[in-house]
Amino acid sequence: MNITELARILRISPQELRDLLPQLGFAIGQKAIKVDNNTAKKIIKDWPFLRRQWEQKKAAEAIKKQDEVLPKEKKTIFIPKVITVRAYAELAGIPVNRVLAELMKNGVFTSINEKIDFDTALIIGENLNLDVQLAEQRVEDNEKEDKKLEAILANEDEKDLKDRPPVIVVMGHVDHGKTKLLDSIRSTNVVAGEAGGITQHIGAYQITRKGRVLTFIDTPGHEAFTAMRSRGAKVADIAILVVAADDGVKPQTIEAFRIIEAAKIPYLVAMNKIDKPTADINRTKQELSTQLNITPEDWGGKIICAPISAKDGTGIEELLDMVLLVADTESASLKANPDADAAGTVVESNVDKAAGSLATILVQNGTLRVGDQLCFNEVIYGKVKALKNYKGEDITKAGPSTPAKILGLKICPAVGDILNVGAGEKVKVKKIKTSSGAADVLPTTTEDNPEDKTPKVKVIIKTDFLGSAEAIEESLLKLNNEKVKVKIIAKGLGYITEGDIKRAEDSGAKVLGFNVRMSPAIETLVREKQVTVKLFSIIYDLIRFVKEEMQLLVKPEINRVELGRLKVLAVFRTENNSQIIGGKVLDGEIKNNSLIDVKRGDDFIVSGKLTRLQAGKQDVEQVGKDEEAGLKYEGKPVVVVGDVLQVYREERIIDKI
Ligand code: GDP
Repeated sequence: MNITELARILRISPQELRDLLPQLGFAIGQKAIKVDNNTAKKIIKDWPFLRRQWEQKKAAEAIKKQDEVLPKEKKTIFIPKVITVRAYAELAGIPVNRVLAELMKNGVFTSINEKIDFDTALIIGENLNLDVQLAEQRVEDNEKEDKKLEAILANEDEKDLKDRPPVIVVMGHVDHGKTKLLDSIRSTNVVAGEAGGITQHIGAYQITRKGRVLTFIDTPGHEAFTAMRSRGAKVADIAILVVAADDGVKPQTIEAFRIIEAAKIPYLVAMNKIDKPTADINRTKQELSTQLNITPEDWGGKIICAPISAKDGTGIEELLDMVLLVADTESASLKANPDADAAGTVVESNVDKAAGSLATILVQNGTLRVGDQLCFNEVIYGKVKALKNYKGEDITKAGPSTPAKILGLKICPAVGDILNVGAGEKVKVKKIKTSSGAADVLPTTTEDNPEDKTPKVKVIIKTDFLGSAEAIEESLLKLNNEKVKVKIIAKGLGYITEGDIKRAEDSGAKVLGFNVRMSPAIETLVREKQVTVKLFSIIYDLIRFVKEEMQLLVKPEINRVELGRLKVLAVFRTENNSQIIGGKVLDGEIKNNSLIDVKRGDDFIVSGKLTRLQAGKQDVEQVGKDEEAGLKYEGKPVVVVGDVLQVYREERIIDKI
């Protein structure tokens, strides 16, 4: 048969066929025109199989080719707990597309600027010929971080210390006007005529008042997270506790106050919204005093409680003057050495599509300069390429108490991370072995309060994108109420792993996957361990599932509804477990299928059920006052003439979540 004829039957080009046949084990030359008929028949018959064999070979070659970009020998890389795909690829020296492809194979669909967690990095690392190690565990403990900063300051010589501006944080219940107050302070105090009077949001800003500089932490986005709030308070020297005078002390007011107390920083109270007719300054002070033990100055206490309106600006100037007063009393601790290497705290961090990883550092000691090495947790994250102030202007250096946005980061640090430029030179990367299986996952925002006895639905969330994990977490936390709560044990990216199942087994959590899958091996494990794993592709369904689980934990309240009383006038029949009784309704209304308490005088005798009701020999559903009725009583057959049957119904009240 002609090669062209055979190629037509097989639907490929003659040249392709000529190239292909030798690869499939047929001795046919590059210039062949004919194939003998037997061979042709065999090829046609086996074509589906041969073709698959060829495709597999081609795919294997493509992968081999792709894998030429991988390190020849296993390469060790050290990464933080969470890292962007881009930074991971850079550290590994592998094209980012290859990393993305590997992620995709593992069920993680992400873009180069998104972050993956350590567990995911470890799993994909295996196929990328990487030995992925965790570069020093992030110090979760705020205290430790504080100590680090304290230690840096303690190392300074007294004579090198100079005054620095106070750093102020605004805290309080949601909607009490924190943002408005920060906006109001910013807009009224931007130095007149200053270039680019419009400030940019970088997580902190500065104002000048009476020739003195004040730094304000301005991170409303973080307020959902108690942990960060507590960090905010520790970064700060002075706190302003905002309480809306029309709303008074609320749960987050108390929470914020506890954080301020724990941080041992001086504070003053701003009683906001005094422009509102419903504002009540006296009642607010009363609540501050009774609920938080805060005695206002004019009540003989020590705490400044300033009435303000962030909306129309009333009292803002006075508030700032009082902040200055507090700063004066604290002046001994408002010191730093501007000549040292910079140390500070990350107050904001994000990935910008155009500019890459960005973070705002509040410099707390020393001076940060362009060119400085950016070292967090003893890992170098890059070098300062440029610094910008809160007005978006380029600056070359940032001294103590100055917030500065840094460009040049390869990896995004987390809010609360400590920058220590001085540690850059003696960098040593600590190896920390992670136990396989128990995955290191993203930090969650739910905190554990051992005193909180509210029933909780525990969940582990696995998603395809970091964004969806965060959106789900946010929606779930909104379901929390006084009766039942959601506790997020862990959240992470990618397929459901053995580690997740183990974690679920240990904690009694349910694993919720969003747009992720589960391998058959894991399915077997799930059945073995009897862990609940649910996979969703619609966030709404996931939320609804959790809601239903929460509902199951809410104990219904049982309410007794009195229906009426019936006096027993006759007992017609008595059986083992029932009696037929006749009587007259004393009050209320007797209804069929209800419950009965038998009373004799004031004594309670027994409880039973009313299962049939008759009036004038007719079955009825209810009988009213003064009417006579016959009924079937089910229960201990002890009812006698003269007893009173108290008829009632039980209502189960289930609180809807
Ligand atoms: P936050 O959640 O504490 O940051 O509160 P916001 O600053 O977002 O304020 C919550 C709401 O209260 C917004 O609608 C503000 O416009 C309003 N608000 C804030 N301060 C005042 C005030 O002094 N007077 C009045 N009338 N409304 C205010």
